[in-house]
Amino acid sequence: MTKSSGDDLQPATKLVAAGRRPEWTGTPGQPGSVVNPAVWRASTHLYPDMAAHKAGPRTNEDGRFFYGRRGAPTQWALAEALTQLEPGAHGTMLYPSGVAAIAAALITVLRPGDVLLMTDNAYEPSRAMARGLLADMGVETRWFDPLDIAAFDAAICERTRAVLLETPGSLTLEVQDVPALSAIAKARGVTVLLDNTWASALGFPALTRGADIAIMSLTKHVGGHSDLMMGSASASADLYARLRRTAQQLGHVVSPDDAALALRGLRTMGLRLAQETASALAIAQWLEARPEVSHVLCPMLPGSPGHAIWTRDFTGGCGLFSFVMNGGSADARDALIDALTLFGIGYSWGGFESLATPVDPAALRTATRWPLPGMNPADRFGVRLSIGLEDTGDLIADLDGGLAAWRAAGASA
Ligand SMILES: *Cc1c(COP(=O)(O)O)cnc(C)c1O
Repeated sequence: MTKSSGDDLQPATKLVAAGRRPEWTGTPGQPGSVVNPAVWRASTHLYPDMAAHKAGPRTNEDGRFFYGRRGAPTQWALAEALTQLEPGAHGTMLYPSGVAAIAAALITVLRPGDVLLMTDNAYEPSRAMARGLLADMGVETRWFDPLDIAAFDAAICERTRAVLLETPGSLTLEVQDVPALSAIAKARGVTVLLDNTWASALGFPALTRGADIAIMSLTKHVGGHSDLMMGSASASADLYARLRRTAQQLGHVVSPDDAALALRGLRTMGLRLAQETASALAIAQWLEARPEVSHVLCPMLPGSPGHAIWTRDFTGGCGLFSFVMNGGSADARDALIDALTLFGIGYSWGGFESLATPVDPAALRTATRWPLPGMNPADRFGVRLSIGLEDTGDLIADLDGGLAAWRAAGASA
């Protein structure tokens, strides 16, 4: 779906108003409307007569009834809302998951024989996609250090067609210099894809910072309630048309029920992100002062990799960050996580509830290593937290108990 209006409004206002077109919240000929677009469950779309039926297949336009795979007003409303929230976007495609969005965007821009550059801190399934699907297609992937601009420049060759950035990386949280990397890529004709799941368009207006395609897992902040899976890709007119063609040919469609849940999540996303960011920063500062912790990898925290770029380029954060223990063992870290009562153990993040998972990225590195430069090799047992909407003091008390369990497990032995 492409955008209709609202460019001049602030993000908080757009979150409330976006996607609520009268024709999606009302009934033709009836005065009045409801607040939210209805859940339009639809496979068959009906044509009023044969003239409309003959015209229908030729239109291939967003926001027109055609057939269920192209969505109906619930999905159109969500896509339009996301476009209105993404400065510089002409349109947004929806996908059944964030991974589906990344895959569809990559195969839209890559052809056999091309080289893809991928940031070395990329989400693990993105790496797996490079080694599997893309390799099978004849696309070669090369990884680069997310913080090394000169190495990125040097890695571009005649066959480089696209780059996948992720800032900050969702395990190790290095913040990339997207404007600098994009400028280099653009000068060489390389398309810039950015996995913007961490910050969302609210915290990082990706297209205005240089990305060509802004990708999000809506499963995280937009859904916000750990009850749906979805992805999106937003882009300018030309790339959006190409994304739409790929998505339609792959048969991608999202359910109207999930789209309605995502729209509901979107309305409170700004509040949730602000609260989670403030809570995460307080918890990161508390962890940083603890002797059991050697490093806190949190973009909002001075000293974290890329913090200066975060301060320069980002308009907000979120609740996802990692910390690394001072020496210790994997068993002691298990004891720490098991002792937490307010943090669930599970993948995903961005929900209203807090989560904790172990971080062991050594095997996921090609161009860089873990522990990160400047870290003691013994300091390698990480924990990733997704801070939810619980009271910050309660979460800190819970983590205090976790650190006690870590000490009791003989972490320093
Ligand atoms: C979760 C996640 C994805 C994938 O999203 P799904 O909706 O789970 O498929 C992509 N990128 C990042 C950074 C993520 O955290």
